[in-house]
Amino acid sequence: KAKEDGKNQYKFFQEKYRLDIEREYDLTHNLLNALSKDELLLYYQPQICIQNSTASVIGFEALLRWQKDGKIVHPGVFIPVAEKTNIISDMGRWIIFEACSQGKKWSDKYGRDFKIAINLSANQLMNPVLYDEISTALLQTGVEPSCMEFEITETSIVKDIKNSITVLSMLKELGVRIAVDDFGTKYSTFNYLKNLPVDKIKIDISFVRGIGKNKIDEGIILSLISLAKGLDIEIIAEGVETKEELTFLVENGCNNIQGFYFFAPMEVNDLEEREILNFEQEEI
Ligand code: C2E
Ligand code: MG
Ligand code: MG
Ligand code: MG
Repeated sequence: KAKEDGKNQYKFFQEKYRLDIEREYDLTHNLLNALSKDELLLYYQPQICIQNSTASVIGFEALLRWQKDGKIVHPGVFIPVAEKTNIISDMGRWIIFEACSQGKKWSDKYGRDFKIAINLSANQLMNPVLYDEISTALLQTGVEPSCMEFEITETSIVKDIKNSITVLSMLKELGVRIAVDDFGTKYSTFNYLKNLPVDKIKIDISFVRGIGKNKIDEGIILSLISLAKGLDIEIIAEGVETKEELTFLVENGCNNIQGFYFFAPMEVNDLEEREILNFEQEEI
């Protein structure tokens, strides 16, 4: 009986393994065609600045979406596969160009500059073509370089710290900005902040979720805010969902906010129809 059970279990795992591989194979196959089939699009999530109790939109984070069979697929599902198969390099080039041209369109249309943040994966940061891709996109779209911000994670930075320093320094010379995403979640050695040309850190959603519930998360946020002040770099909180989180952040000196409390990531059409680029709200 035990032997029989063992056999069945083995069969079960073998079958599950086969299905996993098939699923990944299908995903890879579909993903390979996603670009040429025009199935990729960028959502934009507004970034809000609060000054003198007034909230206004100062920029957007571009977030990749895959429109597949009428459904929206989120990057958590397909970015890991895109990275493993290096499909991300073609995708990445498209994302950079698309976001730069959107930035240019908006600054022309609204007569003021918005910051546009683009996420870079570790593969992109390691790829020597990145610099050319970005400088080409800046030139061809004519967007103001200082409007473009590149978000990198600590994980990608520490994969090859020497390369990161070189690449980011070169990017800085193009006039673009660098933000560290999910800050504090991985290897926050302060040493890289000293050697990297970082303009901004993003407080990770996991710390924001602890506001009002967990003194340690609150303590970490306070120290990140004072770290940014000390280094004279910007700070923004992501994943802000409640009034309580917002109040804690603003009262403690983090005036840049991104999260569902204000807006979720949206399609360009929705942002424009709802006049979100002109959004302003008093008495926050
Ligand atoms: P991220 O860069 O840290 O992006 C923040 C994620 O939090 C986004 O998920 C966003 O939709 C979500 N979010 C924003 N506000 C809230 C909130 O108030 N509450 C909650 N619960 N979530 C919120 P999304 O769009 O699914 O992206 C997930 C991750 O995928 C991103 O994390 C980023 O690492 C990666 N990603 C997204 N777009 C791109 C891209 O164009 N290129 C690369 N390489 N990676 C991307
Ligand atoms: Mg990001
Ligand atoms: Mg993040
Ligand atoms: Mg994240």
